[in-house]
Amino acid sequence: MSTTAKYIFVTGGVTSSLGKGIIAASLAQLLQARGFKVTIQKFDPYLNIDPGTLNPYEHGECYVTDDGAETDLDLGHYERFLNVRTSQANNVTTGRIYNNVITKERKGEYLGKTVQVIPHITDEIKRNIFLLGESGEYDFIITEIGGCVGDIESLPFIEAVRQVKWELGPNSSMVIHLTLIPYLKAAKELKTKPTQHSVKELLEAGIQPDILVCRTEMPLPMDIRKKMALFCNVHLNSVIEAMDADTIYDVPILMRKEKLDERVLAKLKATSKEEPVLEQWKNFLGKLKNPVNEVNVGLVGKYVSLPDAYKSIAEAFVHAGAENDCKVNVKWISSEEVTKESVDHILKNLDGVLVAPGFGERGLEGKIETIRYVRENKVPFFGICLGMQCAVVEFARNVLGLEASSTELNPKTKNPVIDMMEEQKKITIKGGTMRLGSYDCKLKKGTKAYAAYGESLIHERHRHRYEFNNKYLDQMEHAGLKAVGVNPESNLVEVVELKDHPWYVGVQYHPELKSTVLNPHPLFVKFVEAALEHKKIKA
Ligand code: GLN
Repeated sequence: MSTTAKYIFVTGGVTSSLGKGIIAASLAQLLQARGFKVTIQKFDPYLNIDPGTLNPYEHGECYVTDDGAETDLDLGHYERFLNVRTSQANNVTTGRIYNNVITKERKGEYLGKTVQVIPHITDEIKRNIFLLGESGEYDFIITEIGGCVGDIESLPFIEAVRQVKWELGPNSSMVIHLTLIPYLKAAKELKTKPTQHSVKELLEAGIQPDILVCRTEMPLPMDIRKKMALFCNVHLNSVIEAMDADTIYDVPILMRKEKLDERVLAKLKATSKEEPVLEQWKNFLGKLKNPVNEVNVGLVGKYVSLPDAYKSIAEAFVHAGAENDCKVNVKWISSEEVTKESVDHILKNLDGVLVAPGFGERGLEGKIETIRYVRENKVPFFGICLGMQCAVVEFARNVLGLEASSTELNPKTKNPVIDMMEEQKKITIKGGTMRLGSYDCKLKKGTKAYAAYGESLIHERHRHRYEFNNKYLDQMEHAGLKAVGVNPESNLVEVVELKDHPWYVGVQYHPELKSTVLNPHPLFVKFVEAALEHKKIKA
């Protein structure tokens, strides 16, 4: 294996949900801000080939990359922090590793050998670790190992990390262990024992962590740092404090204060001329923390009890809000609660409404009712994927007077204004079979979408099976619902807008996936602007 990239592994101890993804993204951002090329990869220890078949309640949002990979939501953080694209190679599950090995075994590629976890599974993991480095494109590859050290299912990943560390040596590879230092209120003490145990667990697997990043509610006093350094075999300045932050976007700055980037560069003997250039980042944080305006935006969806299900939408609002010097308060509204009777009460104080993506018929009628209300009352409306499809159904029913639906909701509907895509009709398996990834879209000039993007050929990511039924196109356009963005090859309608409405845009794709700190998504920016405008008019 030849690679010039340096490998940084991030493991987790004590408990899950400590924010390994944010720490990895923050470190990557600091290295990038020093002029290095960095990418981040995540290994997930579950058996699904990818999270595409997982219910959002299980695992939060499924994040789609340009190349159509259905991936873990941490990849969204990587893209938002780094402003670089990820791909399938950036997210690998145990399921995918085993699938690759078993497929090879069936082809007879192991030449009669017994196929085993070690070396075959670990070799396949290592192949995936090195894959990103092969292009020579990156100076650093940060690999986040999902789950916690000590979990049975992450053992092969930990073993692969041990082997890579041994193969590459200390100047080219290192391990950062993210851990928790709980504060016991009754004893008024920070406790290091859980960390000591999880480091011990790593040592048993043959890995000495190089740096400890310690999540904590309280600042870490020197005696605690010393204790951890001594008992966990790390340098005192490699005990990094990671205090709870107001926003995830503070974390790179906090890590900079703790000199995480410097420690990493010193360990890996990498030289960097400059201090990290964080002006743009700080500028964004300044705008985020000092808004001059405020809007209330409703997010109508069916998975609202778990906001992680709409992670990228929530973050896109953070970016677009900062861009507008405006705090966006997102009100999470369950579409199942919206009915003809309740709609006015639920939506009347909102400055804009976003109808969210989703699958299945549950809550669909509530979304349609929501859209009727915002259309009639001229409240800024943003429909994404299923949200756009519901807008088309609503328009067909309430403006064209058709007995219409989406075949996802009612397969026998008289007027399937949203119908399953032709190529989807033959597909019977669920995993990885939707229309996925980046497609071109041509926007018409003089539209809201064109005004937002400022160009006519755009590229956006998709994840759906159903589409606008072009049989109804003329009828819809005639009555005022215009198809203003179309895929130039397939003619699929990608963007609809309503005439005579302050801001009503439905998109078949997922713009939220491409919003980053440095490039807030133009449609979110304009939607927030429209919500601000609506608020002014209302007042
Ligand atoms: N369920 C719809 C479809 O498959 C919309 C999907 C989505 O919102 N991502 O077409």
